Amino acid sequence: MQRDHQWLKVRLQTIWQKYFPDVQIVNNVFVKFGRPATTRLGSIKYGRRKENRNTIITINGHFKNPEIPEFVIDGVLAHELTHYAHGFCSPHQQAFRHPHKNGVVKNEMISRGLQDLLKLEKKWIKENWVKFLKEYHG
Ligand SMILES: [Zn+2]
Repeated sequence: MQRDHQWLKVRLQTIWQKYFPDVQIVNNVFVKFGRPATTRLGSIKYGRRKENRNTIITINGHFKNPEIPEFVIDGVLAHELTHYAHGFCSPHQQAFRHPHKNGVVKNEMISRGLQDLLKLEKKWIKENWVKFLKEYHG
């Protein structure tokens, strides 16, 4: 299956329903592939509009490559959704002062049953990412 924007959108919806059903969708949330990058796997930000702000989740453009397992993409989407749930770049009430400090993302993901996915993702990145970049980056 071609990994296009529609595919990415469906993956985000699936993860949202499965692991974040209590997190309300309170604004427009867009997901897209960004540029192929070496370190940043994903990011979340607000769009430019100042009222009814949009949330934009960007996934590393390298992840269009079928060599990247789907669980890596799912892990990154879940990470960004955790930020959304915690009120970072989303209208939800901000739950913490910093988005990553004290392992709040990891803890949230574990509490939502994402520990296995997280483990698989980290393991794959650790063992394969540098090799992948040597073959495909630039
Ligand atoms: Zn993050």
